[in-house]
Amino acid sequence: MTHTLAHWIGGKHVAGASGRQGPVTDPATGEVTTQVPFADAGEVDTAVAAAREAFTEWGGSSLARRSAVLFAFRGLLDRHRDELARLITAEHGKVHSDALGEVARGLEVVDLACALTLQLKGELSTQVATRVDVSAIRQPLGVVAGITPFNFPAMVPMWMFPPALASGNTFVLKPSEKDPSAAVRVAELLAEAGLPDGVFNVVHGDRVAVDRLLEHPDVAAVSFVGSTPIARHIHTTAAAHGKRVQALGGAKNHMLVLPDADLDAAADAAVSAAYGSAGERCMAVSAVVAVGGIGDDLVARIAERARKVRIGPGTDPASEMGPLITAAHRDKVASYVHGAAAQGCEVVLDGTGHTVAGHENGHWIGVSLLDRVPVTADAYRDEVFGPVLCVLRAETYEEGVALVNASPYGNGAAIFTRDGGAARRFQLEVQAGMVGVNVPIPVPVGYHSFGGWKDSLFGDHHVYGNDAWHFYTRGKVITTRWPDPADTDGGVNLGFPHHG
Ligand code: NAD
Repeated sequence: MTHTLAHWIGGKHVAGASGRQGPVTDPATGEVTTQVPFADAGEVDTAVAAAREAFTEWGGSSLARRSAVLFAFRGLLDRHRDELARLITAEHGKVHSDALGEVARGLEVVDLACALTLQLKGELSTQVATRVDVSAIRQPLGVVAGITPFNFPAMVPMWMFPPALASGNTFVLKPSEKDPSAAVRVAELLAEAGLPDGVFNVVHGDRVAVDRLLEHPDVAAVSFVGSTPIARHIHTTAAAHGKRVQALGGAKNHMLVLPDADLDAAADAAVSAAYGSAGERCMAVSAVVAVGGIGDDLVARIAERARKVRIGPGTDPASEMGPLITAAHRDKVASYVHGAAAQGCEVVLDGTGHTVAGHENGHWIGVSLLDRVPVTADAYRDEVFGPVLCVLRAETYEEGVALVNASPYGNGAAIFTRDGGAARRFQLEVQAGMVGVNVPIPVPVGYHSFGGWKDSLFGDHHVYGNDAWHFYTRGKVITTRWPDPADTDGGVNLGFPHHG
């Protein structure tokens, strides 16, 4: 029995009306569990209209009220962590502990939003001229939209809507059509927390729904997270329609290992960061650069650990790595491994053809390790987004950094070393938005901002942290003068006002 999901508009479930829908699959079994409606332009318009109407009240609501709703939501989210993690595993496939981690990292951004009273305080300068004061306030934009990828169906929406709602905006979310149920459950929890109807809406769909959001005159800003080609399209199209836009794209994250590094710690980190969540993380390490003569030793240590990764359904507590999102994606990932030897790579581990007993139709693939990978190989050039780790060799630190910086992507980059001076140089020289020193996946905590450079982010603002308050508000500066009846300096003055 498949279940049909509904949109969430104006505080209630609304059945899809376009006649178009898509299947949601359990990646561990290959079974279609849910049908998700694909909104047409009219349904998107209904959601935006609900958000616009709700903005009239929410945009002017007191900070105390917003704060109360967000604190209540935080409590509910905390109590429903396990349920949300199970929904994520059922549609994404990642193992339960990893799904719990995703919810926890989303919750961090809700914590940030709960601090809204401190964040939205504004500035005041008194007596800039005689009896003249200047204050600067930040106000909400109106209706803002979020478009999110499949790989973090709960966390990535939570990178966006908590600070957006805290700032007084209303929100329309278009989650990934591959694992859309967590977004609807989050909407129900927001309603239970006391969020007024229409402040948060979910419309499901594909390009049709996204393109309508990008051109809709009542959508003031768009936050996007997904692959680079779509991020580029979102940035260009939304900006052409006069919207504020931040569009986070794909990645190829490098881990530079210097000869003085603790090679066991580096190998542990490489395996965890390359194969965790089956490599379907935008901060996954997909390229290790071994510097100096450590390459063979490091590859042996990585291979020894990688062989032991336990692959199975995300619901099995013994599993460390689950299946890939779709069979088509699994086949694409496998094609990179199949083509690797002909493109000059040494195939140390080939994970293609992996099966899991009792789950023959799941989207399985094992872990693959490619050594001596030329920069021209497809497995290195493309964002594979699967459990395939490339190892490259560099003679020196300089050669290694040049290799990292030649990548068109610049999301995360890590260095493993015991040399503080080298680590410091790397922090300054590497072209990436997030840097790890002996930390392989340097995803910033909720009160710092997350974002990449180059083809990993289009726009000026990173997500969450301080950038979020700026992205989701606009500034207003008020100059005030309350003349004293005793003032004698009145009268007409055609000169440009200046403060003397
Ligand atoms: P995707 O780009 O295929 O889809 C992302 C969103 O865009 C989805 O909601 C999808 O429905 C929509 N979409 C897809 N095609 C579209 C089109 N032609 N026009 C308009 N909208 C379209 O990404 P995905 O496969 O869901 O997610 C994986 C990608 O996301 C990877 O590239 C990964 O690196 C990236 N990602 C990046 C970050 C980051 O912070 N930089 C975080 C997570 C994921």
